[in-house]
Amino acid sequence: MGIIGIEKETLKTMIQENVKTLYRKTLETALPEEIYQAAVFSLRDFITDKWIKTHETYYKEDVKAVYYLSMEFLMGRFFGNALINMGMDQVVKEVFAELGIDFNTVEDAEPDPGLGNGGLGRLAACFLDSLATLELPAYGCGIRYHYGIFEQKLENGYQVEAPDNWLEDGDPWGIRRNEYAVEIKFGGHVRAVPKENGGYRFVQEGYQSVMAIPYDYPVIGFGNNTVNTLRLWDARAKNRIDLKSFNEGNYQKAAEEETLAKTLTDVLYPADEHYQGKELRLRQQYFFISATVQRVVERFTNDHDDFNLLPEKVAFQLNDTHPSIAVAELMRVLVDENDLPWEQAWEITKKVCAYTNHTIMTEALEKWPLDLFSRLLPRIYQIIEEINRRFCVELMEECGNNPEKIRRLAIIADGQIRMAYMAIVGSHSVNGVAALHTEILKNHELKDFYKLFPERFNNKTNGITQRRWLLHANAQLAELITERIGDGWITDLSQLERILPLVEEEAFRERFMEIKQANKMSLAKYIKSAKGIDINPDSIFDIQVKRLHEYKRQLLNVLHIIGLYNRLKMNPGLDMVPRTFIFGAKAAAGYHRAKLIIKLINSVAEVVNHDQSIGGKIKVVFLENYRVSLAERLIPAADVSEQISTAGKEASGTGNMKFMLNGALTIGTMDGANVEIFEEVGEENIFIFGMSADEVQEKYNKEYDPWSVYNMNQEVRMAMTALIDGTFDRDTGLFRELYDALLNGFGGSRADEYFILEDYADYDRAQQAVDYAYRDKEKWAKMAICNVAKSGKFSSDRTIKQYATEIWNLPTVPIDF
Ligand SMILES: *Cc1c(COP(=O)(O)O)cnc(C)c1O
Repeated sequence: MGIIGIEKETLKTMIQENVKTLYRKTLETALPEEIYQAAVFSLRDFITDKWIKTHETYYKEDVKAVYYLSMEFLMGRFFGNALINMGMDQVVKEVFAELGIDFNTVEDAEPDPGLGNGGLGRLAACFLDSLATLELPAYGCGIRYHYGIFEQKLENGYQVEAPDNWLEDGDPWGIRRNEYAVEIKFGGHVRAVPKENGGYRFVQEGYQSVMAIPYDYPVIGFGNNTVNTLRLWDARAKNRIDLKSFNEGNYQKAAEEETLAKTLTDVLYPADEHYQGKELRLRQQYFFISATVQRVVERFTNDHDDFNLLPEKVAFQLNDTHPSIAVAELMRVLVDENDLPWEQAWEITKKVCAYTNHTIMTEALEKWPLDLFSRLLPRIYQIIEEINRRFCVELMEECGNNPEKIRRLAIIADGQIRMAYMAIVGSHSVNGVAALHTEILKNHELKDFYKLFPERFNNKTNGITQRRWLLHANAQLAELITERIGDGWITDLSQLERILPLVEEEAFRERFMEIKQANKMSLAKYIKSAKGIDINPDSIFDIQVKRLHEYKRQLLNVLHIIGLYNRLKMNPGLDMVPRTFIFGAKAAAGYHRAKLIIKLINSVAEVVNHDQSIGGKIKVVFLENYRVSLAERLIPAADVSEQISTAGKEASGTGNMKFMLNGALTIGTMDGANVEIFEEVGEENIFIFGMSADEVQEKYNKEYDPWSVYNMNQEVRMAMTALIDGTFDRDTGLFRELYDALLNGFGGSRADEYFILEDYADYDRAQQAVDYAYRDKEKWAKMAICNVAKSGKFSSDRTIKQYATEIWNLPTVPIDF
């Protein structure tokens, strides 16, 4: 472990001095957020030397590096994790204790930067942690949004959005690197200039430009000397208006450029898994990709002149299609700016780029209209036209003159550019994020491409970093595990299997369940203070936290709660283990149906929590503003993990893995990585229900009539009726839309599109099995421990090792220090 030989007294003095110079205060009078800032400045000194050394080494040894290109990095708070990875958390906790400062209060003073929507952005953050811990040369490349994902509040049970001003109190982790600023060009037109030895050079003219300024954030490896970089690009106007005001035309342009720069990196688009086709979004994509590609190629040319070596020094991983414009931008930089022949540039580009597919939901697929695209990025548009033309020629050679097929596979068709197809054609690797997901890509969604390029397709099941999701989030459980099997699991999660024999040890089971109980008590306390709701710490904590999406089926969960509530009303003596249902979910601001489901959850909570007649057997809690720091609080306290998406719809999920690692049992469908969790723990340690992906597909193609479920199942009928009979809506008819959507279809969608009613009965059966299993405390403890023990596969360390060897061919580079 990278223990830093640091004197406690030195650290105390540093923090004291920093509080003094930053705020002209003493530790006694400083606010928690001021102490937090002072502590970060002290810590930074220790990080910086390793950071410099890491990059010196990469440079001197001329190593290959991966650039993880992502519109989102949902990092969570830095402080606690930085301390752990630096091996300094004990020292700092002791220093704080000796200074009489409460560590948790200071930790809580850090804003939780929400520069991502959910799973995709959080995956990028887990990957960076694993890359640094595995000593792999890597850069995260993204956007420094001034406002992250909105802060969610509830007003009268409705979601309202407030801006997330995470930069308000400064940005102590970020370092601005003016020397690496890059010019980004939008709009204008392209002129072909004849070259001396034949052919043309294409130059963009009459464009608007914006400067991209990088801010670098340290990504600290655990227990080693590696400090990698997360580089987030911010926008700034190239010229200030007043400098150009002498000339009318220039003034106009400078003013436009200044406005463009101001708005470009202002805000993260909050629609998760939903494509919107907004011009500003396309600008954001090109902005950070062009900046990254230009910078990477410039750095390469500083000490290489053979571009054929580029794939030996650089790998681009495209996190979904959002960065797929990198394919065309790399072509532009190679062909236009470095005079490479097209064919050579194309071979290089394919070797450099690799694409990760994250979803098969059609509404998430990015397709840019040609008029918008060609106006905004005229040269990139030409390049994509040429990529498409050549691809169609290839198709023709491959499968003959088959216009229908060519149109189906073309990158440009129906007046749109299909970004996923461009990413596939321009990459040497296309991966799905769980075994089932990859099979669906190969056999259904991308079948034609799989036939064309079978060697490109591969699976990389997602993972999570155990440093944040166990060591940091659940310190007590981490300590218990370390006590018994040592701390090797922190960098090799498969070692958790070694706790499996301990299930037979009563003392171990008891300690394990005591820790779960302590985590539940502390969550109960938080819920009491945040919401004023009393929950029973002996009840089953049943948690569904994730973005609100119809396919994730929060509505199935609520409908079942209504069913349970009705059952209790009819039979107050019903023999059941008390249950606390906890939800957390943000809905995209424009996603009406999702927002209505949030309102329904809150309305059901209002009624159920205040109904004395059910004897407190069920409670419903909606915690607002679900985010990384809240996940860290909730997941260690979970007994039951709800992973109930319609089979075939959730590509992988990573929330499911976080819960498993913390000893929650999964109730879930055979979807995404749930399938692999099932394979790891065996059917006796998980509660599986519902249709399989194949059955869903089959039902989708045949006729499905939710009315038949409604007619056959009294509990479903009563729960449905409760949506519209005034029980929860005070006779406003508010939830009639949900009722209609389930039974008749509403607003163009088919009836019960996500098979909620179809899966209801089996979900209820599985929930009863949960209730039954929980009564046997010993058995439950064994099941929970088994889940922890078998979670090794789901470390992002495993995932990243597979990317490094199977896609990037990226060797490790240890840093001497
Ligand atoms: C892990 C995580 C997610 C992804 O959860 P899923 O259940 O896989 O959708 C979303 N948001 C936050 C804050 C997370 O930590």
